[in-house]
Amino acid sequence: VRLLVVGGDAAGMSAASAARRRTDPDDVEIVAFERGVHTSYSACGLPYFVAGAIDDVDELIARSPAEHRANGIEMHTHHEVVAIDVQAGAVTVRDLDAARERREAFDHLVIATGAAPVRPALPGVDAEGVYGIQSIADGIALRERLDASKPARAVVVGAGYIGLEMAEAMHQRGIDVTVIDSGPQPMSTLDPDMGALVADAMRGLGITLHTDTRAQAFERDERGHVRAIVTERETLPCDVVVLGIGVRPNVELARDAGIEIGVTGGIATTSTMATSAERVWAAGDCVQTHHRVSGRAAFVALGTHANKQGRVAGINATGGAATFRGVVGTAVTKICAYEIGRTGLTEREATEAGLDFVSATIESTTRARYFPDAQPITVKVVAERTSGRLLGGQIIGREGAAKRIDVLATALWAGLDVEEIVEVDLGYAPPFSPVWDPTLIAARRVAVLV
Ligand SMILES: Cc1cc2nc3c(=O)[nH]c(=O)nc-3n(C[C@H](O)[C@H](O)[C@H](O)COP(=O)(O)OP(=O)(O)OC[C@H]3O[C@@H](n4cnc5c(N)ncnc54)[C@H](O)[C@@H]3O)c2cc1C
Repeated sequence: VRLLVVGGDAAGMSAASAARRRTDPDDVEIVAFERGVHTSYSACGLPYFVAGAIDDVDELIARSPAEHRANGIEMHTHHEVVAIDVQAGAVTVRDLDAARERREAFDHLVIATGAAPVRPALPGVDAEGVYGIQSIADGIALRERLDASKPARAVVVGAGYIGLEMAEAMHQRGIDVTVIDSGPQPMSTLDPDMGALVADAMRGLGITLHTDTRAQAFERDERGHVRAIVTERETLPCDVVVLGIGVRPNVELARDAGIEIGVTGGIATTSTMATSAERVWAAGDCVQTHHRVSGRAAFVALGTHANKQGRVAGINATGGAATFRGVVGTAVTKICAYEIGRTGLTEREATEAGLDFVSATIESTTRARYFPDAQPITVKVVAERTSGRLLGGQIIGREGAAKRIDVLATALWAGLDVEEIVEVDLGYAPPFSPVWDPTLIAARRVAVLV
């Protein structure tokens, strides 16, 4: 049996490794193609590498091509898969060093081509100094630029989590950072009241934030280097620009092969990570998945899902039985001292899903109020009005705040209602939480509204 994997990062190599762990190399040959030079790298760590908190980029590489080979996976880097022939069970792969193409047969195929940052088609977007951050090479290029030319002013386009993390990275390097976003608040994955707290936090840090502001063009200097961003209101001078306006799934290969693409733009997959084509599986940022709370299709490009989906695809592609039962929309991030967590549906998303809801927001502390270093935390909980079923949660606070979202994520996964959450046996001691954990206080507050 021959298993081919397209894409050598989180999803692809999770699939290859899971397949390798459960099969004998004499029975199953596993071959992976990656068009870049790195494998199993952590894009999630790039903001901290750019900030200088991590010095050696190799620390972001969980497994090199050589380690994969030692593990019994035939790993080809600098190899791009350019076509899939589903009927024949073969791919066309281009060796980027030799500039030669060849066909490779498969019995099973895992597509793990990831996603690419959106680059708006604006005048000047190709100016030197305008960066998208997705690959290790992108991170190295940006860091080298910051080290070499010590820019004074940076503009980050997009105030989602990658925009915030990149703003933090450059702010910590002493660069004057402006963040612009076309929406009315940073972090559009939060409700406006919680987004407003993020905006306050950013401004408090000395980061300039322009909401309802759209980039229209990038001005270049005589060297072709970006020198300003033009918005509808003003021209913002800058020496470097980082784009953080989202990602699009890389689905061209799959689409061209006649594999079904879902309504969100990702490859349609089942809970076994099967695609519409027999013996073809897909995982990671290139796929569409199922949102367990809204019941709808979702596109959520996160490493946590890529790893789990890859494992499921690898097991199923080698005759095992595993499932990926969807997402609840959990995510955490931070900007300097401020931590942000979210799970489930916001009020807006609950409305869109046609759900009648109640919500409550509470302020508490991350440790007992009297304990040294107790930090403020704000927790919002959204619940279905009639049943009390938990629909979602949002958290903003200082150290110790964000990961509390996992309590609400677990409750959502289990389908608990807010009355039940109030009863959950969470750990308590003054250095870790108030006697009522902030998540339970919020659940208690919303329970009386149900
Ligand atoms: C700055 C940043 C911070 C992030 N932080 C977090 C975080 O904190 N938490 C979190 O959960 N997620 C985070 N993510 C998201 C996470 O990195 C991705 O979800 C994850 O990398 C997806 O893995 P993947 O394998 O599906 O896709 P990718 O990592 O995109 O890998 C796909 C690979 O396929 C290769 N490829 C594509 N097409 C072909 C082809 N035709 N032939 C051969 N090779 C091909 C690409 O070169 C690439 O290496 C972050 C992402 C970025 C950019």
